[in-house]
Amino acid sequence: MSDEFQDRDFSDARFGTRAIHAGQRPDPTTGAIMTPVYQTSTYVQPELGRDLGYEYARSQNPTREAYEGNVAALEGGKHGIAFASGLAAIDTMTKLLSAGDHVVSGEGIYGGSYRLFDQVIRRLGIDFTFVDSGDPEKIREAVRPETKLIHLETPTNPMMRLTDLSAAVETAREAGALLSVDNTFATPYNQRPLELGADIVIHSATKYINGHSDMVGGMVVVSDDELHERLRFLQNAAGAIPGPWDCWLALRGTKTLHLRMEAHNRNGQRIAEWLEEQSGVERVFYPGLPSFPQHELATRQMSGFTGMISIELGSKERAKAVVEKVRVFSLAESLGGVESLIGHPAMMTHAAVPEQTRREMGLSDGLVRLSCGVEDVEDLIEDLDRALG
Ligand SMILES: *Cc1c(COP(=O)(O)O)cnc(C)c1O
Repeated sequence: MSDEFQDRDFSDARFGTRAIHAGQRPDPTTGAIMTPVYQTSTYVQPELGRDLGYEYARSQNPTREAYEGNVAALEGGKHGIAFASGLAAIDTMTKLLSAGDHVVSGEGIYGGSYRLFDQVIRRLGIDFTFVDSGDPEKIREAVRPETKLIHLETPTNPMMRLTDLSAAVETAREAGALLSVDNTFATPYNQRPLELGADIVIHSATKYINGHSDMVGGMVVVSDDELHERLRFLQNAAGAIPGPWDCWLALRGTKTLHLRMEAHNRNGQRIAEWLEEQSGVERVFYPGLPSFPQHELATRQMSGFTGMISIELGSKERAKAVVEKVRVFSLAESLGGVESLIGHPAMMTHAAVPEQTRREMGLSDGLVRLSCGVEDVEDLIEDLDRALG
């Protein structure tokens, strides 16, 4: 759009200022400070062969563009490409590949990503090797001449295993492969993979990016212009776009990302420390704890550790009792909203992962995952105390 508000540039501003302003400008027709929901499927062309930069809403939508620009700026990237869900984002990214190509993927990735790779994309002639990405050597060893993509999550869900991103960047460069990092758990507030040399950042915007549990969405962020063009082409060609209303909700969500993450980080740390002292909790998986095996790596590549905590309770019976006894936490899939959630990965988010693989990952039937929200932390601790008692 051509208008007099165009020259607002927040690329050099700090995180909170970017969260509130990047990608956005007053609406050109009225000056409305909030980006309107452009709820339209098509755009009128003033004359044959001339449009105003918008032809059809699968291809372009101003609400979506503002949201894409905003998340791109938060990740320190140049281009955001929005999708209808996190899995739609990952699915479209794999369409950069062709039959015969090979992917090295972390084995501890989101259960739905694993299912997509293993049961859908694999059928199309693209091969996958799943490795423990917490060990940089395992990634290196899995690389083949036809490896075109290395896909990682750090921290992993739900075991919180970290991948050394700088080492992974080096491996990807040597292999001539793209490195994609699913940054859903960490969020750009705590970790920015593009700044460490990754090529692609993925989000399930459903989680912390939107943060209010009221939409489903995905985002891909890149800095390379050529890679952006290929992904933009795929976004339009495959068509898994989000609607403008969901883009607007997510854009409203990112305005408080820095405030929410500060509170999630604080509550997560306090609750993890408290859980570590409870006799009924066998293990606490939280990168912010000094006892966490990869704590040193965590402090090196992350600036905060979110509200995600997994705990080992020893048995399925005990896990069941705890997830059913909580009153402030709610038993539900998903994470990253302002309200606290509790889940049982083996029966919920990771039910699609074969039992043998789950066991190898350490994902037992006694494992419970917490998404600590931004409620008053004393209420959350009292709730867990009652449920664990
Ligand atoms: C939820 C999630 C996804 C999938 O995103 P959807 O928006 O549910 O499609 C991918 N990766 C991670 C880490 C997730 O938590």
